[in-house]
Amino acid sequence: MLSTQQIDTLSKEFESKTPQEIIQWAVDEFLPEIALSSSFQTQSMPLLHMVANIKRSVPVFFIDTGYHLWETLMFREWLASEWKLNVIDLYRDPRWNTFVLHNIRALPFEDPNLCCYLHKVQPMQKALKDLKAWISGIRRDQTAVRAQAKILELQEDGLLKVNPLLNWTKADISQYAKENNLPSHPLLSKGYRSVGCAPCTIAIGADEDERAGRWAGRGKVECGLHTDMFKKKDYEEVKQAFHLEIK
Ligand code: SF4
Repeated sequence: MLSTQQIDTLSKEFESKTPQEIIQWAVDEFLPEIALSSSFQTQSMPLLHMVANIKRSVPVFFIDTGYHLWETLMFREWLASEWKLNVIDLYRDPRWNTFVLHNIRALPFEDPNLCCYLHKVQPMQKALKDLKAWISGIRRDQTAVRAQAKILELQEDGLLKVNPLLNWTKADISQYAKENNLPSHPLLSKGYRSVGCAPCTIAIGADEDERAGRWAGRGKVECGLHTDMFKKKDYEEVKQAFHLEIK
């Protein structure tokens, strides 16, 4: 087991390594207790491609929120089959089903943080519970929160988050995709440069920020997977945190 100091030292060393070198280290160190998460967007393709080339059996967690655009689901199916990926779909805790079904239209608009928490954060927390490492595709150039991230981040519960693409830019992603002839999400050509759930994603102009089409006008830029929202909370704690009175 790596100490906090060793992780800090390695993280600094990895600032000058390639994403492939970082992924190879993580796979050698943690397989089979490691997984990658992916939303199957165009910008997710390079990381999926690298991991598949290094170790195809690494589980790929896809969060099926129930609010996805059908193009995303179709693309996920096609790519998993084409690249023979080990995709595992994650779903919300069924204890929330009655609450969500009663609020299904309003929830993403009236309380998107709760909606993301139930549909993304909690399922991911559960899936990662028994693992030692999580490979994520975040980049420093995406949001202010991500700009502060480190390549290796030890979570409170001992899980090591590995961010091999942290130093890559939008241009690096495009360059890698071009060089390797990677496929694109079917909605990219229609102006969807960052694709989330249907109620929270709009097409944007070519000059706009990559994530401008996510939760537009709602003052939200992160789903919570990569922020302080990613904390251990059980069903009762979540009800209290979000002031829910559910019998
Ligand atoms: S992105 Fe929107 S619909 Fe999807 S989980 Fe978050 S708030 Fe809900």
